[in-house]
Amino acid sequence: MKILCVGAGLSGAVIGRKLADAGHDITIVDARDHIAGNCHTERDADTGVMVHIYGPHIFHTDDAEVWDYVNAFTCFMPYKNRVKTTSRGQVFSLPVNLHTINQFFGRTMRPDEAHDFITQEQADTTITDPQTFEDQALRFVGRDLYEAFFKGYTVKQWGMDPSQLPASILKRLPVRFNYDDNYFFHKYQGMPENGYTPMVAAILNHPRIQLSLSTRFTRDQAAEYDHVFYSGPIDGWFDYDLGRLGYRTLDFERFTYQGDYQGCAVMNYGEESVPYTRITEHKHFAPWESHEGSVCYREFSRLCTPEDIPYYPIRQMGEKALLAEYVTRAEKETGVTFVGRLGTYRYLDMDVTIREALDVAQGFITKDTAPAFAVSPL
Ligand code: FAD
Ligand code: UDP
Repeated sequence: MKILCVGAGLSGAVIGRKLADAGHDITIVDARDHIAGNCHTERDADTGVMVHIYGPHIFHTDDAEVWDYVNAFTCFMPYKNRVKTTSRGQVFSLPVNLHTINQFFGRTMRPDEAHDFITQEQADTTITDPQTFEDQALRFVGRDLYEAFFKGYTVKQWGMDPSQLPASILKRLPVRFNYDDNYFFHKYQGMPENGYTPMVAAILNHPRIQLSLSTRFTRDQAAEYDHVFYSGPIDGWFDYDLGRLGYRTLDFERFTYQGDYQGCAVMNYGEESVPYTRITEHKHFAPWESHEGSVCYREFSRLCTPEDIPYYPIRQMGEKALLAEYVTRAEKETGVTFVGRLGTYRYLDMDVTIREALDVAQGFITKDTAPAFAVSPL
């Protein structure tokens, strides 16, 4: 069959490759002039540093099949994300762990002592079923740590008070009563040796895949294909005629430095008085390389306008109602499947994106068709 994948990010590339392997003829278009979507990496010409163009991307997963899949296309180097945060004139370790707790409270507690201290003296145990980000933080770490590390950062990141955000956003971050400062808890974690873009290039390298960059898809092109896998924005498919789904976008203020600017890949800034959320120093994502010069990004978050790149779906009540309307309409379309973070308006890590892409492609191979959504966006 003749298949079109809109988007050469992970969603489009993985679906396209699996269907090409099954004998289908695949066209992949992307409006950008490069592949790999938001995971795109590029080596800086002056310093030689591998830069994560759309912000820091660390691969982490518990999914052994996805881990094997990415390792089949590129060499992954060991990498553990260890994030620091600056607040109240000091540098602390994240996610909140025993070091953070002892340093913050000026104590030398052992794990069980710290556990008792946080749960009995800090945590607000009157909150039994936390629904909001704020309640979740107060319930599990208490007001002092919440105000130092989470409140200001979250106001900057999401542009609203944490009392208006769902608890699920904070649930992504663990609290540990030992000195483990690995930001993620997944079994597999690593960084592609030469960045994500060569990995996606290897995925796309198939005689049945035809790639067109700098090519914007419009809906009238769908008729030329037996099926379309669309990883563009779901509201964009309908020309935004019911309005636009809300996103946060990011501005990266790039600067260079001779030497080591901050000694780690990611330094968060917990306080609202510092206008940016974090600084990324890209060379630390490739600790096996050595570079004198350094490339850093100061990261600012703000509401996305039609001219900006949509990064984080906001998914508040209003957006969810609008999304439900688009989903109802999308389900009436035939010959198209909405995939990926924009097509389903969900925050998706790379491993989940790949898992869903493999599954939707497998479903198509089995049935010669696919529904509007393999995973419900609601
Ligand atoms: P995308 O990468 O957005 O690709 C969609 C592509 O479709 C784009 O290239 C776009 O140009 C193209 N497109 C859209 N509309 C059209 C159209 N009409 N015509 C043609 N082309 C079109 N995940 C992790 O696992 N670890 C991390 O550390 C991590 N960090 C992240 C940091 C940031 C700042 C962000 C925003 C995300 C992060 N992610 C991370 C998530 C990761 O970026 C996504 O999982 C992944 O990019 C999703 O791939 P996708 O193909 O669905 O979407
Ligand atoms: N967060 C915070 N302080 C930090 C890091 C994260 O308050 O130093 C909050 C913030 O609201 C963020 C959420 O926790 O959106 C999830 O953090 P994560 O690092 O997973 O953010 P992402 O990778 O989505 O940018």
